[in-house]
Amino acid sequence: RWVYMNGRYVKKEEATVSIFDHGFLYGDGIFEGIRVYDGNVFRLRDHLVRLYESAHSIMLDIPLDIDEMEQAVVEAVRKNELRDAYIRLVVSRGKGDLGLDPSKCSNPQIIIIVDQVRLFPQETYERGLKIITVPTRRNVPDALNPKIKSLNYLNNILVKIEANQAGVGEALMLNADGYVAEGSGDNIFLVKKGIVYTPPGYVGALDGITRQAIIDLCQRHNYTVKEEPFTRHDVYVADEVFLTGTAAEVIAVVNVDGRTIADGVPGPVTRHLLQEFRKLVTVDGIQ
Ligand code: PLP
Repeated sequence: RWVYMNGRYVKKEEATVSIFDHGFLYGDGIFEGIRVYDGNVFRLRDHLVRLYESAHSIMLDIPLDIDEMEQAVVEAVRKNELRDAYIRLVVSRGKGDLGLDPSKCSNPQIIIIVDQVRLFPQETYERGLKIITVPTRRNVPDALNPKIKSLNYLNNILVKIEANQAGVGEALMLNADGYVAEGSGDNIFLVKKGIVYTPPGYVGALDGITRQAIIDLCQRHNYTVKEEPFTRHDVYVADEVFLTGTAAEVIAVVNVDGRTIADGVPGPVTRHLLQEFRKLVTVDGIQ
């Protein structure tokens, strides 16, 4: 495996960053997780737009423009000769001193790792996932905005720790008002009486690329989809619940906080959307 580092390729085992990189010292940087399906980099442009928006928001100047970055990602995939892969694109603030002032960091680091990822075993996709809601709240938009995909994932990691402690695969964060926001690394949907719901961005969630793909698929297949805030109660009494994310794809949730969702198996809308999503991922992107 070859890792792209600032325009050069380094062997995976030899790819290292400085301990003075503010990405390491402070979580100062941004990232994307992107999938390659049968040689097709799924919705790469959308991922890059989100990356550049995150960069703009934290005043991080990426030394490549978006077209150059697109080329770099596609080239890194080719170089690794993988038809199916997971890409981790990281831009860190770069090397500085021990103070947190980012103006001392003059060399942002661009790193593209092409590897493989498997979040859940196939069996989990067939049976559905058991999850919980946790006390850790989603950080609020006027602090570190959840729409910035920053290297500061401690909030999400705490959620994952709580899920691990409870022996479940994933957990949901609520926002400060108690509305359901998202999972530690995925967006949430529910289906009630044939209508598909997902929280609007202002509730405090990342604008997921997979979330948007599912909204597009709902529209194409004549499911009414509504972006509306909902509570834990709405989740408990939903007909179907599922999570979406680049790593998780579309995964049914069959139990939340000990409450079985409907009859406890992945529902028809979820299964249909997963099937359509699998068709979409090999065509909607860059070869
Ligand atoms: N929410 C969070 C906090 C995430 O980290 C991710 C993963 O990137 C998502 C949602 C899902 O977004 P996407 O579908 O773009 O992977």
